[in-house]
Amino acid sequence: MLPNPNSDLLLPSRRRFLQQSAATLAGLALPVQGWAGDFWSQPRELWLIRGQIAKTAESVKVVYWADGKLIPEGYTALCQLLRDVQLNLAVQIDPVTLDILRGVYGWLRYFGIDQPITVLSGYRHPYTNARTERAALNSLHMLGQAVDIRIPGVSASRIAQLGKYLSAGGVGYYPAMGFTHLDRGKLRTWVG
Ligand SMILES: [Zn+2]
Repeated sequence: MLPNPNSDLLLPSRRRFLQQSAATLAGLALPVQGWAGDFWSQPRELWLIRGQIAKTAESVKVVYWADGKLIPEGYTALCQLLRDVQLNLAVQIDPVTLDILRGVYGWLRYFGIDQPITVLSGYRHPYTNARTERAALNSLHMLGQAVDIRIPGVSASRIAQLGKYLSAGGVGYYPAMGFTHLDRGKLRTWVG
């Protein structure tokens, strides 16, 4: 039977993980469930693509974090993929934002879905942001703290639901355009 990405969410939220870590440090270790308990302590791999056509799409599949620290090569490759493509300008992407993507990717992998996350927008220079339709003036894309993504076969609303579950920041769902915005800002949700 094929795994169903629209079934229950089984991934530990990053916020919950941090709470668990804090609780553990305080000597109040909480029970953790199965594989989920050490998800965030495992090497963090991401597979992202950019572009609609499989043949020409840019693809990066790397581990960007392991043994408690960023892996420079993997991190840089992801920052490059998440660049402002209009200006061909890459910046340091916020690692927590990569963790949000990692949560989404880990969830796909858990369901045996071996496919990348399609990135529509990552970092945006203010010049590009000002010329992006419906972009917020103070968009977190300009800080490298937001991504717009799509996953073929998984509905944008489902990704939004996962984003809310991860509880890492803002979640914007754009049904007409078929993508979901995720950022590491304040917890908030909206429909675009
Ligand atoms: Zn966005």
